[in-house]
Amino acid sequence: MPELPEVEVTRRGLLPHVTGRRIAAVAVRHHGLRWPVDADLATRLTGRVIGEVRRRGKYLLLACQGPEDAGWLMIHLGMTGTLRIYPQAPEPGPHDHVDLLLEGAHGVSTLRFRDPRRFGAVLWVDLPDDALDTHPLLARLGIEPFDPAFGGRWLHKHTRGRQIAIKQVLLGGQVVVGVGNIYASESLFRAGIRPTTPAGRISLARYDRLAAEIRATLGDAIALGGSTLRDFIGSDGASGYFQLRAFVYDRAGEPCRTCGTPIRQIVQGQRSTFYCPVCQR
Ligand SMILES: [Zn+2]
Repeated sequence: MPELPEVEVTRRGLLPHVTGRRIAAVAVRHHGLRWPVDADLATRLTGRVIGEVRRRGKYLLLACQGPEDAGWLMIHLGMTGTLRIYPQAPEPGPHDHVDLLLEGAHGVSTLRFRDPRRFGAVLWVDLPDDALDTHPLLARLGIEPFDPAFGGRWLHKHTRGRQIAIKQVLLGGQVVVGVGNIYASESLFRAGIRPTTPAGRISLARYDRLAAEIRATLGDAIALGGSTLRDFIGSDGASGYFQLRAFVYDRAGEPCRTCGTPIRQIVQGQRSTFYCPVCQR
């Protein structure tokens, strides 16, 4: 499943191939994604020029400037979604749901959204820049982990009095976005914090460490993904997702890379959690 690093790498990969391009045509082959694709999507998008590409949580937001107004193409990769740029697109397969034909100075290319399980989303958002945060899918998202305002103090302040386990707080997305299951387990290991610890009992100093490790873990994954960017164009084989060499995630029973103790697996909120009972307290 694409997590924040995959979405961020997708954003960076798209950027040079979509910015400044005019949308010449749109093909929607399947409207039944997580939310129905706008029946008028082609009419709304055709002729617009793509500006910046933003990411908010796991949503990608392509600024689309028209002659009279601006709006956004919002894309979520869901469980199995990918975006690829093709200088010459192959015949669409059964899971290639949306194509944008992009015109630029160097010719025409295709931006293709593929999603076998169809939990992804392709939505038109008719909001100006300064109101984008009010969109129902964005309004309740927590702070971005790379926002300068995020840090130990932020985590500390937003967890006072809360009995809920710290892992659950991270996965919830309301205090901070983008720390999915893998990255929550890995960050907590790197910070030496037991995932079941009540969030309200963790000290500011330990939260400082955790915030730094969240950024470092996500940053490492983004950097790792950046090395796959070369495959971004025209690749339709490998998913393009990538994984760090995990300390604990998916390593139940294997020796901790730090102390050798077997890694434990438990279930929290129906999700697997992995931790070292010695290194994490
Ligand atoms: Zn250990």
